[in-house]
Amino acid sequence: MDRLKEKVVLVTGAGSGIGQAVARKLAEEGAKVMVVDINAKGGEQTVSMIKAAGKEAAFFKADITQAVETEAMVLKTVEQYGHLDCAVNNAGVEAKLGDTVEQTQEKDFERVMNINIKGTWLCMKNELLQMHRQESGVIVNVASVLGTIGVPGFSSYVASKHAIVGLTKCAALENATKGIRVNAMCPAAVQTPMLDRAEGVDWSATQPMGRTGRVEEVANGVLWLCSEESSFTTGHTLLLDGGWAAG
Ligand code: NAD
Repeated sequence: MDRLKEKVVLVTGAGSGIGQAVARKLAEEGAKVMVVDINAKGGEQTVSMIKAAGKEAAFFKADITQAVETEAMVLKTVEQYGHLDCAVNNAGVEAKLGDTVEQTQEKDFERVMNINIKGTWLCMKNELLQMHRQESGVIVNVASVLGTIGVPGFSSYVASKHAIVGLTKCAALENATKGIRVNAMCPAAVQTPMLDRAEGVDWSATQPMGRTGRVEEVANGVLWLCSEESSFTTGHTLLLDGGWAAG
């Protein structure tokens, strides 16, 4: 129960779905959690859930595409809790499902890239600056199994998640001797509001296990990457995909 006792973690996109489950799991394991989201209602709800369980959390509203807001999110975490041990960069958006590369609209491509890859990079940049000062830290970027394989009709999302995996590997190598580990978590279809928005798709039928993943299953993987149990793991893409990428 106390695998993250005294640790300070920051989770982006923690007002919904996977991020909410991750924030709750890390708090359950003793971490003080800075819940970050652009959606204040969802973020405050996550904080209430964590506090109702007798654990510690605070909300910070930030849009991860804005440099000043990602800087402020790290500064606020350090001001409130003293340091930053773990950052889970989870906030992200889906692309319009079904568009081929040539059908994809420029504004949709830019929206997905701006949030998923530029936003993740901005978060990492500010987190790493703090972790360098401390000479320690762990970053987990929530990419996707679609950061390792392609699917037709979802190219901007797939490209953005491949880019997160690339960013993760570079940051891991740049920081390997600095006490900082950087890994990517790659889930397959997980039952969240994001998946619910893709109407008309039987996601369970697309999965080797015949079911989608549960947010708690992803949270367990993120917990392992945040904990000392993964102390020799960096630059890794951890597939939590029910076997999807094995096909
Ligand atoms: P979700 O839509 O339920 O939650 C995403 C959260 O991110 C929301 O609370 C939203 O407000 C927040 N967010 C979006 N844009 C933001 C911004 N600019 N700044 C700050 N916060 C922002 O989605 P989810 O399914 O929980 O997805 C979480 C992450 O997991 C995403 O990166 C997604 O790509 C990834 N993922 C999801 C699945 C899946 O099947 N659900 C599979 C693989 C990877």
